[in-house]
Amino acid sequence: MRAVDIIRKKRDGHALTHSEIETFVHGVTTRAWPDYQASALLMAIVLRGMDIEETAALTRAMVHSGSRLDLSDIPGPKVDKHSTGGVGDKTSLVVAPLAASCGVIVPMMSGRGLGHTGGTLDKLEAIPGFRVRLGVDELRAALATIGCAMIGQTSEIAPADRLLYALRDVTATVESIPLITASIMSKKIAEGIDSLVLDVKCGLGAFMKLRADAEELAQALVRTGQDNGVRTEAVLSAMDAPLGLAIGNALEVRECLQTLRGHGPCDLKELSIDLASRMVALGKRTSLGEAKTEVCDALDSGRGVEKLRRIIAQQGGDPHVVDDPERLPLASGQCLLRADRSGYVAGIHAGKAGMAAMLLGAGREHVDSAIDPAVGVIVKARLGERLRAGDALAEVHYRDTGRLDEALSLLRDAWKISDDTPPPAPLILASVTA
Ligand code: URA
Repeated sequence: MRAVDIIRKKRDGHALTHSEIETFVHGVTTRAWPDYQASALLMAIVLRGMDIEETAALTRAMVHSGSRLDLSDIPGPKVDKHSTGGVGDKTSLVVAPLAASCGVIVPMMSGRGLGHTGGTLDKLEAIPGFRVRLGVDELRAALATIGCAMIGQTSEIAPADRLLYALRDVTATVESIPLITASIMSKKIAEGIDSLVLDVKCGLGAFMKLRADAEELAQALVRTGQDNGVRTEAVLSAMDAPLGLAIGNALEVRECLQTLRGHGPCDLKELSIDLASRMVALGKRTSLGEAKTEVCDALDSGRGVEKLRRIIAQQGGDPHVVDDPERLPLASGQCLLRADRSGYVAGIHAGKAGMAAMLLGAGREHVDSAIDPAVGVIVKARLGERLRAGDALAEVHYRDTGRLDEALSLLRDAWKISDDTPPPAPLILASVTA
């Protein structure tokens, strides 16, 4: 079967057979397909789409490009949470310890930030010494002793996804429901979990800008999980404005510590409690109400923050950051961006704010760009707040001034100030269950 024939078939709008899809994934994994042919097929899929059958076949082929972890010897329900990517989206660092402290096993396998979106691994690596690359034996040991590990994708898990994601990132082929579904679900199915909660982001800082697309993606993710024996639920959450106040790796870790101590921003707390409760309810097969009571108790009693301390110590990080966040990296330069008019904050464009943080060095423009854990942005003027000209909109943490002006100008554009009070915007928009 020639690559060019498979590309032509999809280009002309036809459904691919299972064996054509397997040929493609095998060709990518073994590097028999050159990048230009893989990219051409990816673009044809973005433009022509894939039906349910094709998406299922693509997911299966990507799972089989590597091995599937078997965690069945570790007692307890194995549950993970995954977000489709956003700005200031730091819930993993709150949700994983909370859920684990309620008795579910959390083998959390996360990714790195790309473009304007942040990544859990980069946030964890802002903690001095923290190792996200654990071998399978170390992962098992962490799960057996503390019930949680927060790690990067191992080389055995869905290797086709790593190769395809790197290509998609540089060929404008990320925004496709079948490709996102197969990418996320192949990793999650291969990691050996029983249940999965997905946070599907929707809005100006998300891959899915429209509610209808986000709903379609959520349904495709839930269906694919269920079809592969993983109990899966999705939450649709708003990503028009950054989540919480901090954007940037060490700054976000500080905010997670505050949240686990009960002092975090309301939106981050609300979404974290919702996601952790769904993980506990799915894993332990209890009602969402019962699970929420358990999760709130773990938060209020400090069991969640203690669990995070143990996760950090287990993975080689400095556990003292939990009591003394000053041990986290801090940028040498800080300045305030001020409002040039009075009014109400009617919007904070998450995409622009995320891009500004990336220009400061908090994120990656390319897969191999180095990041600076200390830099980023703290939102000072929140949605709905009344402002006078000269009030602070944001505190900007920077290391070098090379792209500071560009970042400040993007941030200035991100704040929409109007004369009227904006209507309240819900954070959790809907849930999608099997
Ligand atoms: N996250 C993933 O892991 N894959 C995608 O395609 C998009 C977000």
